[in-house]
Amino acid sequence: MNRTLGPFSQWPVKSESLLDLYHRLEQGVVPHAQLFVGERERSRKLTEYLAKYLVCTESPAPCGECAACRAVTDGNHPDVHVLDGIAAGGIKTAAVEALQGRLSRRPHAGGALVYIIHGIDKATPAAANRLLKTLEEPALPVIALLTAVHARGVLPTILSRTFTYTIDAGDLWEDPDPPTLPASDAESSTQPEEPGDVFAAFVPPMIQWTRSCLSRSVSPLELADMFMKSAGRLSPADALQLLSLWLRDVMHTALGQSAYIRFSDFTQELSEQAKLATPAQIAAVVERVLDAKVRLQSHIAPLLNLEQMCIRVQRGLANV
Ligand SMILES: [Zn+2]
Repeated sequence: MNRTLGPFSQWPVKSESLLDLYHRLEQGVVPHAQLFVGERERSRKLTEYLAKYLVCTESPAPCGECAACRAVTDGNHPDVHVLDGIAAGGIKTAAVEALQGRLSRRPHAGGALVYIIHGIDKATPAAANRLLKTLEEPALPVIALLTAVHARGVLPTILSRTFTYTIDAGDLWEDPDPPTLPASDAESSTQPEEPGDVFAAFVPPMIQWTRSCLSRSVSPLELADMFMKSAGRLSPADALQLLSLWLRDVMHTALGQSAYIRFSDFTQELSEQAKLATPAQIAAVVERVLDAKVRLQSHIAPLLNLEQMCIRVQRGLANV
């Protein structure tokens, strides 16, 4: 089936680790077993969304509106099987065996057979072991979406057979504390006003800074020093916030999601910077910048905080 995957911005949960899964799916690779670790409601929304993606008949998928998507919402899609260990107060061997019976049939719709197990950390050891065979030798179109509140409750044999994604980290696209940006960059230049000027003055050196950072052409300590000097009269918190917004634009550009771009006057520079790192790397940088902003509230010296941020950023760019 020639379907495209909808944008990551539509995922109900958008933690950094899920970007990885997004890129796999984008390339048409569907790992046969994933485990999502984190809060229950987030897991529920995410697994339902992914199940829709796997059975949706429209493109881009999931559309949320076709008969297949609606059947998943209603809990009665014939190829999507849910074993809810949280509602049942645990998972016993008989429940796993019943599920395996349903998975041995052919998919009705000719696509994937999907099974969701909520609370795999609530499975008895015997039930978890019973599931191993299905995880190890899945019939080809069978996809597992498992959830657990804590990874430590999950049997190591299950952990070793699944791709694990942590979904508790803050969402990359939800911004509880956006700075008061000069409305749209284009308008602000015709209406000079004091705070806007301070922001505007920071933009060119910040762009220069991220270019040096992403291309890894400058050492972390020099980067920290550059950033301090560029911030000028902006508070470190505002400077870091603006930096995180710019980096998100770079990431959205790398993902081809131009609808989310805030720095729309700088698309050329954004596309050049988007080539310097992968979206996952850029997401990691955003997370470290926001960490540094949080750390400003402790009594750490601003320059030291920035130096630590730059070291972590460069390490992240080298590793991811
Ligand atoms: Zn659909």
